[in-house]
Amino acid sequence: MRIDILTLFPDMCRAVLGESILKRARGAGLIEINCRDIRAYTKDKHRRVDDSPYGGGYGLIMQAQPIYDCFMSLCAELGKRPHLVYMSPQGNVLTQERIKELAKLDNLALLCGHYEGVDERVISEIADEQLSVGDYVLTGGELPALVVADAISRLQPGVLSADEAFEDESHFSGLLEYPQYTRPFMWNGSEVPEVLLSGHHANIKRWQRERSLERTLRRRPDLLINAQLTDDDKAFIKELKKASAPDD
Ligand code: SAM
Repeated sequence: MRIDILTLFPDMCRAVLGESILKRARGAGLIEINCRDIRAYTKDKHRRVDDSPYGGGYGLIMQAQPIYDCFMSLCAELGKRPHLVYMSPQGNVLTQERIKELAKLDNLALLCGHYEGVDERVISEIADEQLSVGDYVLTGGELPALVVADAISRLQPGVLSADEAFEDESHFSGLLEYPQYTRPFMWNGSEVPEVLLSGHHANIKRWQRERSLERTLRRRPDLLINAQLTDDDKAFIKELKKASAPDD
């Protein structure tokens, strides 16, 4: 898969892409992630890429032309039009489900806004969808684009080792992950749950599933509506609810 990040701050993105798992994955050719500098496409003699908003108001708006030309040069290079996501606080809030779908694409382009935003006409012209990383406002789309690129990268075959597999993780199957522990056995007066040292695979699996259900019920009960639950899971949740219900 290839991801192209369209940004005014490519070095900001490269700094993140050049570390840790993303660096390894790119180096091994498991995913290609490139940064495209929108400013390189301005036709302004002073290399400006923004201007004040029509109708008044604060700040600067990114102009349509450099963004459009930047995207068109990417289309020409690829020989096709990639799915383009505009990172925006006005978009649909990102979920693991949407990440799983986007991870199946061959090509994805992520457009980062900055300042007060982007001229609406270019968004209408080139964006296939808008995605938000949450109901708060950041200074630019670079961190959100990197969030998307990171979440997609770790789903690509070979990026995570078997030890780091993602299937058990929070949100993958619609539940939060169970609590995790590592050495030492005793830390700060607190021990690792005994069952995890038992070597009894089935008991460990059951304990992890029950803690996962319990956590999700307590912290994110909304997730249970769409989670894939077995009859045993449902019975366990019913017991938990009964145990915590106030006595009549
Ligand atoms: N004036 C815009 C509004 O009220 O919707 C906000 C502009 S914001 C300061 C600048 C850029 O940061 C946006 O164009 C977008 O690309 C990015 N951005 C900010 N918050 C974001 C969020 N929660 N999710 C995704 N992108 C965000």
